[in-house]
Amino acid sequence: MHVAFAGGVGGARLAVGLAAALAPDELLIVVNTGDDFTHLGLRICPDLDTVMYTLAGIANPETGWGIRGDTWTFMDGVAAEGGETWFRIGDRDLETHRTRTAALAAGRPLSAATAELAARLGIRHRMVPASDDEVATIVVTATGRMPFQEYFVRRQCRPEVAGFEFAGAADARPSPAVADAFAAGRVQSVVFCPSNPFVSIAPILAVPAIRRFLEQRSFPVIAVSPIVGGRALKGPAAKMMRELGLPATASAVAGHYRGLVDAMVVDEADRGEADDIRRLGQEVLVTGTVMRSAADRCRLAAEVIAFAGELRP
Ligand code: GDP
Ligand code: CA
Repeated sequence: MHVAFAGGVGGARLAVGLAAALAPDELLIVVNTGDDFTHLGLRICPDLDTVMYTLAGIANPETGWGIRGDTWTFMDGVAAEGGETWFRIGDRDLETHRTRTAALAAGRPLSAATAELAARLGIRHRMVPASDDEVATIVVTATGRMPFQEYFVRRQCRPEVAGFEFAGAADARPSPAVADAFAAGRVQSVVFCPSNPFVSIAPILAVPAIRRFLEQRSFPVIAVSPIVGGRALKGPAAKMMRELGLPATASAVAGHYRGLVDAMVVDEADRGEADDIRRLGQEVLVTGTVMRSAADRCRLAAEVIAFAGELRP
């Protein structure tokens, strides 16, 4: 079985390709929950929803969140009552949050609520939260600490970052499917999707048992760089790297993952960095990593799986 660690947009793109290449029992998609929060009384899990809507083929490609063609009656109602509208929730999207919130209130774990929502949308591959315990990303900025959505949506990533904390991570356990996959020794590879290393992959690795599984691995770990040609294709990854004193390069991503990652997949645009990365002790696959079309996603996923087959941990 191949295990993919994913955030939202970049994670979902590769996850769809992996799901096209692998049978449902050959893939486990492990999704970041550090962005999750409670808003307007609803439990919202942005990365789980992006992965789920993308796998179901109903994601809104323009925004990177929400459902294509959704309507805004609920949001208009919130606005009319003077409620908070900085975080937009479409009408169909609302039904996801309502179902999840009700399941959690009834005492069901997030992984069970997620499985139910995914099944409803006809998703056959398994996508699970990294943990059923709450792990909340806190962004440490020059002007203080703030919850992730405050930084990301309300303040549009403007504050300069100084670091990150993952509240609850120390006591968080892997969700059952994750624990089972690693305990059973059935993992052939772990793939870090081209997701933000600091706020998508790091919160997953902050779950102590998950980090231990990787540290004691007998399978290769491969990271697909979210930095292409010195830029993030979407979101604040490159800005965060510069603010943390790192160059925004694929090799700096490789350095950041040193010790946990055996191989990097970098874009053709970054071919010149391959030798630097090899000097870090990592294998390198250079290929087209920008996933514009379904064909791109499938081709990259197939190449990553073939590459995994050639690697030793
Ligand atoms: P978020 O939770 O929605 O921010 O999504 P992720 O953390 O999963 O993904 C954000 C990262 O994905 C950004 O750093 C982007 O540069 C990267 N990304 C998005 N699309 C692609 C792509 O097609 N190829 C690669 N290599 N990176 C991508
Ligand atoms: Ca996210």
